[in-house]
Amino acid sequence: MQKKRQKQLNIGWFSFTCCEDSTIMFTELLNDHYQEWFKLLKFKHAKILQSKNTLKGIDVAFVEGAITSTAMKKELLEIRKNCKKLVAIGSCAIQGMPSAQRNYFDEKTKQEIQFLIDRFKQCKKVSNLKELVKVDYEVPGCPMDEKIFLDIVNKCLKEFNIA
Ligand code: SF4
Repeated sequence: MQKKRQKQLNIGWFSFTCCEDSTIMFTELLNDHYQEWFKLLKFKHAKILQSKNTLKGIDVAFVEGAITSTAMKKELLEIRKNCKKLVAIGSCAIQGMPSAQRNYFDEKTKQEIQFLIDRFKQCKKVSNLKELVKVDYEVPGCPMDEKIFLDIVNKCLKEFNIA
């Protein structure tokens, strides 16, 4: 008799403007959870782990970092369109800071950095995720709180009837 295939949660991991510390934490967590996650999670999009990626069929998108350019905004909207749940990872994704520091610069400093804004085609204002799209869950912290992250992964596994 053929063995029934384990259902998997299709996930995506995305990183926008930030220091990517939560991404590093996530890869560290793989050391401890690889055996268990290998069966339960399918990485549809995770540039840190693989070169072939797709937005199609993502159940849960984990998004780290703040949005600083129109191109990033477009990409975030595309992710939201393709995923069923979106999780904001870390303080930069949830409230913009500390990646959004330039929003609070005085006028003189803003003028001084304008050439960089132009050169890298940046938006006037840095945005957090929920200013642009619906966010379903948040993992606070700088970097992310490991326990809350694991709780949300488990919550999603239950929600999607995987485990
Ligand atoms: S929340 Fe903190 S750790 Fe995460 S990307 Fe922003 S600055 Fe880095």
